[in-house]
Formats: sequence, structure tokens, C-alpha cells
Amino acid sequence: MLEESEALSRIISSVSPGSVTWLPIELGLGKVLAQDVTGAVDSPPFDNSSMDGYAVRAAEASPGARIRVAAEEQAAGPDLRLVLREGEAIRIFTGAPLPEGADAVVMQEDVVRDGEFIEILEGAEPGEFIRRRGGDVCAGQRILTRGQEITPARIALLASQGIAEIPVHTTPLAQIVTTGDELVDPGVPLMPGEIYNSNGPLLQTAVVAAGGTGAASHAMDDREELTDVLRSAFAVADLVIIAGGVSVGDRDYVKEVLNDLGVVTDFWKIRLKPGKPFLFGRHPDGPIVFGLPGNPVSAFVTFSLFVRPVIRRLLGFPGEETGLEKITAAAAEDFSNTGDRPHYLRGKWEDGVVRLSGTQQSHAVFGLSRANCLVRLEAGETVESGQEVDCFRL
Ligand code: AMP
Ligand code: MG
Repeated sequence: MLEESEALSRIISSVSPGSVTWLPIELGLGKVLAQDVTGAVDSPPFDNSSMDGYAVRAAEASPGARIRVAAEEQAAGPDLRLVLREGEAIRIFTGAPLPEGADAVVMQEDVVRDGEFIEILEGAEPGEFIRRRGGDVCAGQRILTRGQEITPARIALLASQGIAEIPVHTTPLAQIVTTGDELVDPGVPLMPGEIYNSNGPLLQTAVVAAGGTGAASHAMDDREELTDVLRSAFAVADLVIIAGGVSVGDRDYVKEVLNDLGVVTDFWKIRLKPGKPFLFGRHPDGPIVFGLPGNPVSAFVTFSLFVRPVIRRLLGFPGEETGLEKITAAAAEDFSNTGDRPHYLRGKWEDGVVRLSGTQQSHAVFGLSRANCLVRLEAGETVESGQEVDCFRL
């Protein structure tokens, strides 16, 4: 059986970032830059005042000086191209262009106004309260790098540069296909033998949380129906994520149907708990195919470990940002894995200490819902209370 690390590297090395498309900056939140971005203009574009006050010559504005205020004033907005005459001050406001000849601004709290004169209380230093042209960004300078995630602050930077559109990678479309005769959608009463389909909503939203877009469809445990549903999925999706029916039961048709549809299976089964019957392959037309175990916890764990990194890579996240973030934690209790596969347990991490979150069986969604990390134990590993254990933030 394939090792987890080998499985991940085979999956990751078979995908590369999606094609480049241009988006309005307001729609770029959470996306990844597909190219470096260069400053388009000097920022600020002109010398301006950072205070409401008076533009002066610093040498003339020593404490106690009495200076005449010119009749015209400069507010933020059109540059009136005022020239500061010797022995005068010009009333100025925050963001306003600095008049020629001025080399400092005295803030209005530091003067006493007396008719058309001001008396300086606090002397001005040359350059004081002036924001210089290009003091933040110079035109031509690299301001953002390929692979960086777009945040509100970076959107502000782009806007401040007059840049309206950014290059990003196309958002991958994932089609979730759930399988099983026992499953019904939430919102209708259960008949005997039925359970609610939780994998559809789980995986559809997990795709969105990873940065992709997702839709979900369902097939009964019927070869023809599964064939139709999967054929439709391959026609539209970049990724087809199948949940259930991929194990060894008599009614687990996924592997046969994938084979009928020409999918080339790279591997099936990983040495991992939960999530042993995991399948990875590719449809000849391009879509990436994942077969996840049907139990919701197993589906979630395998999605987090192997599918999410693919979505992140397609979006252009750099390698180190495709996997779950590793966090250090001290075990709150003894943990042991007596099995022969690495085991991911659902954990609750708080202030550097991790404890298990509820029942650790693969169907137990309540414990999963309260978990904020996965605790990884190697095959045969025992961790005593207080010792460090590998955890991955969810
Ligand atoms: P399977 O992999 O199809 O054998 O399913 C394994 C277990 O997961 C069974 O107990 C199924 O009832 C359950 N299961 C499969 N698909 C779903 C789903 N979409 N939502 C909730 N449970 C599921
Ligand atoms: Mg099934």
C-alpha cells in the first residue's frame, strides 16, 4: 500500500497552476497573484501636507515668530500652484499639494491665529509634516510578488497605484459526486434504513473554503446511473470528487465505472487511517479524479490531506502553503496508535495543548464539528501526556 507522503507527492507533481485570467481587484480577495505587480505611479504622486495647518519656510517658523497668512489657501484637491512668498505662511489642509517654496508644515494646534497673522508656538523642522512624492512607492518598483495571496490591504495597495485588474489563476470547478442507496438530502424525513447525505454539503463547502467552486450531484448504487452522473461531471469539471462506493463492497461500482469511462487510476489505497480506500486518477479529457471513502470523517480527512492541496496548487499557492499548517502541541492525555497505519485523530487545540474531540469513529461528525486540528500518530506511536505531538490546523 502506498505511503501517505508518496501519495501526496504523486498527486501534487501531476498538477500545475491553472490558466491566467484578469479580475477586477474587488473580486480578487483570497486569490493568488499569477504574476509580479510593478508600481504604476509614484505614491504619493506629489509632495503634500500630512496635517491641517500652515505651509512655511522652517527657517522662518521658530517659536514666537509672527507670520502673515497669505490670502489664498490650498485644500486637498486641484493644485492651485501657489508660491510661498518670503515671510508668509499659506493655510493648508491634509492631503493638499505643498506650495512651491514651502519646506515644512506647522500644524494648526501649534500656532495662535490672530487675524491675518499666526504666532508660532512650536517651531518647525525642515520637512516636518510633509509626505514626499514617492515616499511610499516609486513607479517601476515591484510591489507584489507572484504567489502572494490577495488581502484587503494588498487590494488597497493596488487601488492606490491606480491598478484596476490583477492576474490570477482560473478558479477550479469541482463536481462532487456522492453515491449510495441509503442517502437522502437534508430537509426531508428519513425512511427506515436511510441516513442524510452529509458528504455532499461537506465537500462542496470544503472546496469553497479551499478557494475553488463546487457543485454536488448524487448517484444511487447503480452502474448505469453512476456512469451517467460521472460522465456529466467529467464534461464540466476540473476536479471530480467522488465520495463512497470506492471500497470493496459488492455494490461499490466506482472503480469499474471509472475504468469504463477511460479514467486512468494512478493509485487506489493509501496506508492511512482513516482513508484507506482512496483513489486518485485522471480522465483522458483532463479532469482530475478523486475517490474518497464514504464515511464523512474519512472523506473530510482525505480531502484535507490530498484534495485541498490540489485546489491550492491550481490556484497558484506556493508549495509550502498548500498543505495544512503544522502546529506544535503538548498532549493533554496519553495517545497511542496500536495499528499499522498512521492515524489522524480529530483534536481540540487550545493554548498549545491538544485533547481529543469526541468519538473517533469515521462516521462521527459531531466530534469532527468540534475539532480544530488533526493529531497525527505514526503506526505504533505512543505519546505520553505532556509530550509533543504533531498537529495540523483545520
Ligand atoms: P461506502 O464507502 O459507500 O461503503 O460508505 C461507507 C459509509 O459511509 C457507509 O456507512 C455509508 O452509509 C456512509 N456514507 C457514504 N456516503 C455518505 C454520504 N454522502 N453522507 C453520509 N454518509 C455517507
Ligand atoms: Mg456506499
